[in-house]
Amino acid sequence: MDTVNAPAYPDLFLFIDGQFLAADGRRQQDVLNPATGTAVGKLPHATREDLDHALAAADRAFQTWRRSSPVERSKVLRRAAELIRERAPEIARGIVLDMGKPYNEALAEVNGGAEHAEWHAEECRRIYGRVIPPRVDGVRQLVLREPIGVCAAFTPWNFPFNQAIRKVVAAAGSGCTLVLKGPEDAPSAVVALARVFADAGLPAGCLNLVWGVPAEVSDYLIRSPIVRKISFTGSVPVGKQLAALAGSLMKRCTMELGGHSPAIVFADADVERAAELLAGLKYRNAGQVCVSPSRMYVHEQAYDRFLEKFSQVTAALKVGSGLEKDTKMGPLAHQRRVPTMQSFVEDADARGAKIVLGGHKLGAAGNFFEPTVITDVPDDSRLMTQEPFGPIAPIVRFKDFDEVVRRANSLPYGLASYAFTRSSRHATAIANALEAGMVNINHFGIALSETPFGGIKDSGYGSEGGAETFDGYLVTKFVTQLN
Ligand code: NAD
Repeated sequence: MDTVNAPAYPDLFLFIDGQFLAADGRRQQDVLNPATGTAVGKLPHATREDLDHALAAADRAFQTWRRSSPVERSKVLRRAAELIRERAPEIARGIVLDMGKPYNEALAEVNGGAEHAEWHAEECRRIYGRVIPPRVDGVRQLVLREPIGVCAAFTPWNFPFNQAIRKVVAAAGSGCTLVLKGPEDAPSAVVALARVFADAGLPAGCLNLVWGVPAEVSDYLIRSPIVRKISFTGSVPVGKQLAALAGSLMKRCTMELGGHSPAIVFADADVERAAELLAGLKYRNAGQVCVSPSRMYVHEQAYDRFLEKFSQVTAALKVGSGLEKDTKMGPLAHQRRVPTMQSFVEDADARGAKIVLGGHKLGAAGNFFEPTVITDVPDDSRLMTQEPFGPIAPIVRFKDFDEVVRRANSLPYGLASYAFTRSSRHATAIANALEAGMVNINHFGIALSETPFGGIKDSGYGSEGGAETFDGYLVTKFVTQLN
């Protein structure tokens, strides 16, 4: 078997005020390899004193970093991008060991992180204010955009490097400082990220990394009067809790929450190409992607051809350890996701759906689940209404445009969406009609550093990436001055 060099799993640390802190008597948590179920590392949890130390360091660092020149910030971010590229293979191997995705996907994730650092390095030099012409001679009216302050960020395990770096570069580029709680299930890439920024010259205290019991850490940090802004990527229920707490304290939020992305294939589409592309996207990262196409609506005239091609691609997927070079789909990131997948399948089955492929846990060790295709599943089933966040593809028929728009928009989610058609009229109409923060027509083109990423409705608010990326990290100050 051809495997990626079996690496040693890196040691894990907290990172506070420029120092990497090991367990040293702190509580620790096992980090498990999802392909084997065995422990690969131990993660130290932050004590209350550690959290206070991180907050104080971020507060102190903010007083200096807020006045740093954009050129200086840009240099740090550029250097971080270089270091990320140099270290990408090693960081990617860590991700395979604690999160489970195939090595090539992990490598692409890390290299994508370097692009985010570069984009923010460029864009932070263009955080402009404006001059408003006065009503009275001698008055000067200025609109200034200033960093909001100390931020607290909470990032998930599905793209451990990518989700964390988006928040780090937005905070650092805007002149804010950050206390980051990464994903305890998949921590190695975030420790590596802290090392990158320390080595790139980000001053001590600008980035602090803590670990712990998520609900306890988030509650403590959000309530701290030092923290002015919260950024969270994760599930809708948790996002709503955190946003409610932040709202009660009048703190700004960026919320990048779950989705249940409709993919609509019209009769006039290149049906085989659509099936191939959607199947590839569906099983990427074992379906644990917030923008994964997760409800396939196919026009009845294209349905049979679509299902045949989609099933063919699905059946050919090689499932296995992410360290094996021909693996196309790894295990689910943690054990609790396996019964969740089973319950989606059972609910669909009980409602008369057809399990065309898969539907079961795979093997005795690890969190492997078969790539699964399910048809004839009713619109009110769990699978069609709740985000599966796993390798299950429901495929259903539709008859006409208005009907499919109504069904696609019927859920509270509004993150990504997909449509396939050769008609420009259809393409424009569907792009206008879909209630989603991002629309892909005939290809997959989202999550680039230069384009805004974010949802609407229950999928959250605020954008990461694109020219909008700093909006959530800046406040507006109006100055009017009579000379
Ligand atoms: P979960 O809701 O328990 O946790 C989701 C994420 O939020 C995890 O990273 C977790 O550590 C964190 N979290 C949980 N409670 C928290 C709290 N009170 N404060 C701060 N962080 C908290 O679900 P899970 O089983 O880990 O993941 C499955 C669900 O999470 C999926 O259904 C999906 O909707 C969502 N999810 C979304 C994304 C995304 O990119 N939007 C990423 C990962 C998970």
